[in-house]
Amino acid sequence: MKNEAFNPFEMAQSQFDKIADTLELNEATKDLLRINLREYHVSIPVRMDDGSTKIFRGFRIQHNDALGPAKGGVRFHPMETIDTVRALAMWMTWKCAVVDIPLGGSTGGVICDPHNLSSHEQELICRGWVRQLARNMGPLNDVPAPDVMTNSQHMLWMLDEYETIYGKKYPGFITGKPVGMGGSLGRTEATGYGLIFTVREALKELNIPPGDTTASVQGFGNVAQHAIELYQQIWGKVVCVSCWDQKDQVSYSFRKMDGVNIEILKGITDRFGGIDKDKASELGYEVLPGDAWIEQEVDILIPAAMENQITKDNVGKISKKVKLIAEGANGPTTPDADNIIKERGIFLIPDMLGNAGGVTCSYFEQVQSNMNYFWDKDEVLGKLDLKMTSAFASVNKLAKEKKLYMRDAAYVIAVGRVAQACKDRGWV
Ligand code: NAD
Repeated sequence: MKNEAFNPFEMAQSQFDKIADTLELNEATKDLLRINLREYHVSIPVRMDDGSTKIFRGFRIQHNDALGPAKGGVRFHPMETIDTVRALAMWMTWKCAVVDIPLGGSTGGVICDPHNLSSHEQELICRGWVRQLARNMGPLNDVPAPDVMTNSQHMLWMLDEYETIYGKKYPGFITGKPVGMGGSLGRTEATGYGLIFTVREALKELNIPPGDTTASVQGFGNVAQHAIELYQQIWGKVVCVSCWDQKDQVSYSFRKMDGVNIEILKGITDRFGGIDKDKASELGYEVLPGDAWIEQEVDILIPAAMENQITKDNVGKISKKVKLIAEGANGPTTPDADNIIKERGIFLIPDMLGNAGGVTCSYFEQVQSNMNYFWDKDEVLGKLDLKMTSAFASVNKLAKEKKLYMRDAAYVIAVGRVAQACKDRGWV
């Protein structure tokens, strides 16, 4: 965390309040949507490899399920806070609504650091989390997925525990499963690729050929790596990436003016998305301070690491050359920094739209799992492209018609759809 006082849930609520006023929502709808429907706090006892027992704290928060079963990731992070999880659950509701998939929003997490846990200890945390929450989750009410520092193996352990508890097969309980074990082809790529589908559309809107653009990316995990891969396929050039260094407990940026080589960088990156700085330096990458990614003279900035990264303290460092910011991470921009980006007229692809490829493909996985019939990768990615392109077009159209900032336009569409569903159900 950059700023001890930063509270993502307050930020999510202030974003919502602004849109609630724009949409003139009644008081009951506002009261319903600005807090979460349900919150579960759990304690998970785990017998550690050294024989001791440690208690891990976990959460599952269901923000709203008027549009369908709640859906959202599970994070493992040592700095996880309940308010981060609350904010993420709310953002999931808006994200599903903006891409028009019939799901609500939720998020969960466990306060733990997988860097310091054996595989067996991580398995016990996954199983313990499901044991505590199984009665409140399931394919018809709340479906988890991977997020920061969780992966397909964690999802499979969670699924196995759920199916063991209920004595039946429920492949639709969880998404992000390994391919061949109920996972969807294309899920690993989905968030990063989805982001670049929207970047491609935004560049069309700005009338700039992708091949004439350069980008700087924060993060080198799942989202960032796949975003870079597809962006390079449409001839964009990434000159800088930044990531967290677990050993030094700081972040670094890695710059190569003639373009980073994604395959080589992946070869010197750990499974948490941390690039080995000594090896990068040997390979001719300039190793710069963590924040350097934001100062680069590029056309596109892609924050794809964590929340609270573009703040009032560093927003002024964004180069005049930057024309587009595509948010891959959830909540990377604080409201005060957001106001400055808006004033500067930089085209913004807001997180709820930009990173919605993950949940869209998770929805496809849910559909395939429930049918027990799986599509090929081209079909999945083709459907993803259609959904992302169409969501981008709706948001962009509203933004142009009503002269709204893209984030506000996305909010108006998303909150409007959820509020209408709550009204139609007779809740408010
Ligand atoms: P990940 O754990 O695979 O990668 C995170 C990356 O961020 C790593 O490279 C890490 O080193 C880097 N990082 C962490 N702290 C940093 C810091 N202070 N400075 C620079 N780099 C830092 O996570 P991910 O799945 O790629 O998720 C990234 C973001 O995207 C998160 O905000 C997540 O909530 C969001 N997101 C992910 C998905 C998904 O499908 N994975 C979907 C939607 C949104």
